[in-house]
Amino acid sequence: MSALFPTYKRKQIRLQKGNGTYVYDQNNKKYLDFTSGIAVTSLGHCHPEVVAALQKQSECIWHTSNLFEIQQQELLAETLVKNTDMDLAFFCNSGAEANEAAIKLAKKFTRKNKIITFNDSFHGRTFGSMSATGQQKIKDGFGPLVSTFLHLPWNDISQLEKHTDSETAAIMMEVIQGEGGIKIADINFYKKVQEICKKYDILLIIDEVQTGIGRTGKRYAYEHFGLDPDIVTLAKGLGNGFPIGAMLGKRKLAEAFGPGSHGTTFGGNPLACAVSQSVLNIIFQDEFLKEVERKGKNFKEQLECHLLNYPSVSEIRGAGLLIGIVCDHAGEIIVSLENEGLLTVPAGEGVIRLLPPLNVTDEELRSALNKILAVFHNTYVTVT
Ligand code: PMP
Repeated sequence: MSALFPTYKRKQIRLQKGNGTYVYDQNNKKYLDFTSGIAVTSLGHCHPEVVAALQKQSECIWHTSNLFEIQQQELLAETLVKNTDMDLAFFCNSGAEANEAAIKLAKKFTRKNKIITFNDSFHGRTFGSMSATGQQKIKDGFGPLVSTFLHLPWNDISQLEKHTDSETAAIMMEVIQGEGGIKIADINFYKKVQEICKKYDILLIIDEVQTGIGRTGKRYAYEHFGLDPDIVTLAKGLGNGFPIGAMLGKRKLAEAFGPGSHGTTFGGNPLACAVSQSVLNIIFQDEFLKEVERKGKNFKEQLECHLLNYPSVSEIRGAGLLIGIVCDHAGEIIVSLENEGLLTVPAGEGVIRLLPPLNVTDEELRSALNKILAVFHNTYVTVT
């Protein structure tokens, strides 16, 4: 009997080591990791430059209280907001915590209670972020929830128009719903969100925990849709596996987050910030991001070309290296892929999510494609 709370439905695989896109289990079986820790290990496992940054910082200082100045935090904040309309950063340890900070900041700054979020969204498991989340199964049994949030259907302009007014503090959304099934809205929906935010002076909070830090081929996914957020939340790929989260925001918001208003012990410790800086030094290069876009586009086209022939596959969707295969028997296929040595994760209803490290090679993508084609062939031939 395990001494762990049974909160996770775990696979009987114990990953022992990782190297780039590959991970190895207890039997030394090798897998291509297209979960990349669910968008976390954005540069693959044990990336040498990240390991070096970790080692170097670990020999200097790991942690100081946020009562002291932390140079690594200041540098990282500058890197994150450079060439954006964001000015300031607050560091924490996870995506949920970044979203908590965003919710608190929006309420304190606007002095209003109502925050619009969307059905099928995912914002975390803490009380506020869970209440913001638009998936009922995440919230079952935990009520009464925080009353702040009004959930609207995703990609529905008329509902958005109907429920937003000058009493609304913020609209909070993922630009591409990750856990919800890689769902991208129509461009007109994003335009309407932006228009409404400007019209009523509503804060726009973009949750980039899954889509940010290069995952979609841009530093932040909101850049694809011409959005102008007031607050952006980050985690996952920011630390390439080291726990760190961040909330970015415009300078006007600073007054609501004065000394003593919010904080966290470990947030922005020098070790996490040094690791994250080494990650951004690589990912925030135009050439690197262009490569993510090229590889993602190619891979998606290949999947479309081969898989859309099956009546059971309805769509391949996503951006950059965040790709979803919408199909029947997704759960079964994920297990077969695992047996073939390719790790993937489900999302939403019947979506297989592919999130390789952003520095995945063309050869590794080809190898993954071959495994996918073999498994789809076997599954649908046997099933039909
Ligand atoms: N927001 C989004 C969009 C996410 O995908 C996740 C994690 N799946 C979170 C927030 C929560 O992040 P964390 O697990 O680090 O709290």
